[in-house]
Amino acid sequence: STTIGKIFDLTVKKFPNKEALYDERRKVRYTYQEWSHRVNSLANALLADGVKKGDRVSTYLYNNEELATAFFACAKIGAVFNPINFRLMEEELSFILSDAKPKVVLFEEALETTIADIEKRFPEVAFWFIDENTPSYAANYHEKVANAPQAELTDDIKETDLYAIMYTSGTTGRPKGVLHRQRDMVEQSMILINGCSFNSDDIGLITAPMFHCAELHCTFLPRVHVGAKSIILHQFDPKKVLQLVEEERVTKFFAAPTMWNMLLQENLDEYNTKSLKLGLYGAAPMAPTLVKACREKLGIELVQAYGMTEMGPAITLLSEEDQIRKAGSAGQACLNHEIIIARPKEDGPSDPDDVMPPGENGEILVKGPCMMSGYFGREEANEKALYKGWYHSGDIGYLDEEGYLWVKDRVDDMIISGGENVYPREVEDTLYEHAGVLDCAVLGQPDDRWGETVTAFVVAKDSSLSEEELEEWCKNSRTLANYKRPRKYMFCNELPRNASGKIQKFILRKQLEDAIHNHN
Ligand code: AMP
Ligand code: MG
Repeated sequence: STTIGKIFDLTVKKFPNKEALYDERRKVRYTYQEWSHRVNSLANALLADGVKKGDRVSTYLYNNEELATAFFACAKIGAVFNPINFRLMEEELSFILSDAKPKVVLFEEALETTIADIEKRFPEVAFWFIDENTPSYAANYHEKVANAPQAELTDDIKETDLYAIMYTSGTTGRPKGVLHRQRDMVEQSMILINGCSFNSDDIGLITAPMFHCAELHCTFLPRVHVGAKSIILHQFDPKKVLQLVEEERVTKFFAAPTMWNMLLQENLDEYNTKSLKLGLYGAAPMAPTLVKACREKLGIELVQAYGMTEMGPAITLLSEEDQIRKAGSAGQACLNHEIIIARPKEDGPSDPDDVMPPGENGEILVKGPCMMSGYFGREEANEKALYKGWYHSGDIGYLDEEGYLWVKDRVDDMIISGGENVYPREVEDTLYEHAGVLDCAVLGQPDDRWGETVTAFVVAKDSSLSEEELEEWCKNSRTLANYKRPRKYMFCNELPRNASGKIQKFILRKQLEDAIHNHN
């Protein structure tokens, strides 16, 4: 059976002397052969410390070579890889550690979170420090890896063995650990290789966080699969991205919509970006105007991926050819994926046997080869999320006559004003088209008369942008009926976003409540 470890070994065999990784912060480069040595050393170090198949190994790291190495080292020994969001603070991190119960955590001291407390709380967990300047710790990561036995790794990993546990961002409630098997990622990798034409000549740049599936499964793994090079950027920085594109002649990379937006704010004339062939976007909605601006100003083709951690993540792709003709759509179902639109229900999961006709909105349900095995230890959540064998996405959308998916919004973010449904994304897309709008988010504000009214948070490019002007813009757009137009505008300097670039609307909702409360 094909496993992640086998894919890795095949690539090493085919391209031993080809450059595999460039860790930009440390300025270290590894060929596939050299990297393979590091992967095997870490795998052996974990085994030597008693990590067995099925045990969890967590990483709490910025993007770096150690994270890339841990991904394959774990896969090779069947340890369940648990990449944790490096932005999480002590309490959130503790929750994940108490839920996943890892044996080992690879930890970076340079992070904001202090480890002393956490180490005390989890005496049974071994923390391996990757920082070289932590002499207070007797045996850090580097010593372990340097002193690891160089034993041949046994080959008893099956494609149905668990490969990872990945915690979802969890905008509501406690984060849930999504379980994936080795095979899920092999399938996902092949879908992306096909969709983005990855090949061994590609030079990729890792700009988004590697602990998130968009970067890890949609670009990093497929690149290794075909023997391409990955340049690892420690953390997103638009100037650094453009500089590296020029210096390293980057061909393809993924970025979340907010990152693309930040790239466009730079002085693009200062950089040579001619090597760029393809950009992948997704993980959050991207306004069609922004897609258009990227194509025009950066001179690259784009592909959109839509999906979720639970599904591997990509379930649809919008190809290069369709970017104009189907602008705003999420594209077509990936190979062997089935998508249906079910009638939403007031209580309980929507029924896959009650399907909406083409063109009508409902909840997006999906089945596919990369589907999670379930959430770790969450029976109730699993029953709802996987009701009748379909993954219930919690996203609203429709399929058009040609089978293209149009994602409207999250079920929970839909606004009902005067009995009419308003999808915030439609309003956001219209606002984005105004040249003075840098960023925006639309949500419902409770209203005695209408149930809810539409409110827009706007980040303006400069202070000259007024509420009246935006009102006029929405009216003249001919895309928004009267009840969809914002009744209130809140200007702000920045919108709260999580690590994968999604706007955290629950924070804005709280701000709105507080504003109303203080007013009364
Ligand atoms: P995550 O929990 O990070 O895996 O996020 C999954 C959610 O991100 C989906 O359910 C969607 O709401 C959103 N999402 C992902 N990709 C897209 C996309 N291309 N367009 C719109 N929303 C997206
Ligand atoms: Mg989710």
